[in-house]
Amino acid sequence: YDAMPALGDIVRYHARYRPERIAVSFEGHVTSWGELERASNRVTNALSAAGCRPADRIAYIGKGTDEFFELMFGAAKAGVVLVPVQWRLALAEMQQILLDADVRMVFVGSDQFDKLDAFRQALSSDVNLIAMERGHADLARYAEWRDAMPASDAGLAVDPASVVIQLYTSGTTGVPKGVMLSHRNILSGRRDSMRAQMEWNEWREDDVNLVALPVGHVGGIAWAIVGFFSGAKTIVLREFNPAQVLDAIEHEGVSRLFVVPTALHQLLLQPRVRQIDYRRLRHILYGASPIAIDLLREATQVFGCGFCQQYGMTETAGTIVFLPPEDHIAGGSPRMRAAGKAMPGVEIRVVDAHSREPLAAGQVGEVETRSVANMVGYWRWPAATAQIIDESGWLRTGDAGYLDEDGYLYIHDRFKDMIVSGAENIYPAEVENAIYGHPAVQEVAVIGVPDEKWGEAVKAIVVAKADVSADAADIIAFARTRIAAFKTPKSVEFVTALPKGPSGKILRRVLREPYWEGRERRVN
Ligand code: ATP
Ligand code: MG
Repeated sequence: YDAMPALGDIVRYHARYRPERIAVSFEGHVTSWGELERASNRVTNALSAAGCRPADRIAYIGKGTDEFFELMFGAAKAGVVLVPVQWRLALAEMQQILLDADVRMVFVGSDQFDKLDAFRQALSSDVNLIAMERGHADLARYAEWRDAMPASDAGLAVDPASVVIQLYTSGTTGVPKGVMLSHRNILSGRRDSMRAQMEWNEWREDDVNLVALPVGHVGGIAWAIVGFFSGAKTIVLREFNPAQVLDAIEHEGVSRLFVVPTALHQLLLQPRVRQIDYRRLRHILYGASPIAIDLLREATQVFGCGFCQQYGMTETAGTIVFLPPEDHIAGGSPRMRAAGKAMPGVEIRVVDAHSREPLAAGQVGEVETRSVANMVGYWRWPAATAQIIDESGWLRTGDAGYLDEDGYLYIHDRFKDMIVSGAENIYPAEVENAIYGHPAVQEVAVIGVPDEKWGEAVKAIVVAKADVSADAADIIAFARTRIAAFKTPKSVEFVTALPKGPSGKILRRVLREPYWEGRERRVN
């Protein structure tokens, strides 16, 4: 695996040793490693011909497609930085990212053609727009742009320490930040875990990886790269569609997939979910936000495969902590509540949020991490970078948690969402966890609302199941049987849907807004 120091080397390596095998499958169209090598070479040559130089940035706005991955590898071989933009963002947010990233070219997915005029407005007139897939009358077409170029490898030297992908954070707690990730940031974790020979992480020649999360999120793109690195076949879905995910598992032999908890929940709501043969499914990896224990238990029973939790952030190029399948004992091992232990090569510590002093096992504080996976920095935002990474390389995650005696990390929640009621710190995820098991509850989010006496009071916002009658008092009483009185919601509100970010995370800050209008909420 040392043969792959840079992202482009992944394709070179597999094209050499398994040129005929399928690298990517998208809506029935398959691309072999040899074809992916040639297509990405053409992209590299076309980018150079278009005047893109190393460290220049290009953007992709659209859903998951096979062409996206050609572009990713082609840009990587050219030393050009790819900025994948989440297709679920609002138009103004997309425009803001395109402007912020200062891109030279924008590759537009066919699902985004309705926004062409708006993109043009946001960009200076010398920025080239190129239409992916079926093409668009007003734009150069990607396939023609690519195929006008030779398929030979330009063989450009690329420094593994240089930035290759600029990925914006999910915007769960504020404006998305442009995270600069180098080849080394992205690939180090893969290499270290291969060296450590972690059984669950060993890929086989016949593995089929499903990429169903947005390519503009670390859970989509970094996970896809893990599969490519291993030489597995990758199935790309345009977007997360629970019925299509089950179809791919049933008919295309998917052996691994990565989901966020809200997506796992959607899979379990599918009427067919209990009728499928899951024998070829080896592992479901889940993470990116806290998971309700009842949801996880149900999923382990229904799918019967290995489960592995992933904890990480855009700033760490994805996973830095994992909970291996052996800690997911059906019926519940106490470890099922942990996020897991550090990946090989990753340091994790918990510090006091104020004094920044490291804390002993069992004490709750802010989680910090140090490894080669830590980002190069935030794009054009040195002040924010300095705030999150200290001189010795420790990165503040903004997450509250503790380490146990065995080095397992338990994540409580984000500090920004922590509710301070009286003198008590309450983590919404724990309260959500307690409420989630109530038979009438489909989805739940917990926030702090202003309270005269306590500063903040715990409030649950619930989406009730369609066919069950739900009652606020009953939900409160149920929660009380599972958590302490001071954590139990004082009020419950019913809504038809919860606001979610582009990668499926529940946006508590949006839920909080109406309650805090005109008031200052103390942020921890
Ligand atoms: P922003 O930084 O813009 O507010 P974000 O933090 O949601 O958005 P990401 O980089 O996608 O952007 O998410 C990283 C965060 O996701 C972590 O800091 C943590 O709060 C949460 N997270 C990731 N994995 C887990 C997990 N396994 N359990 C609990 N929380 C997780
Ligand atoms: Mg974050």
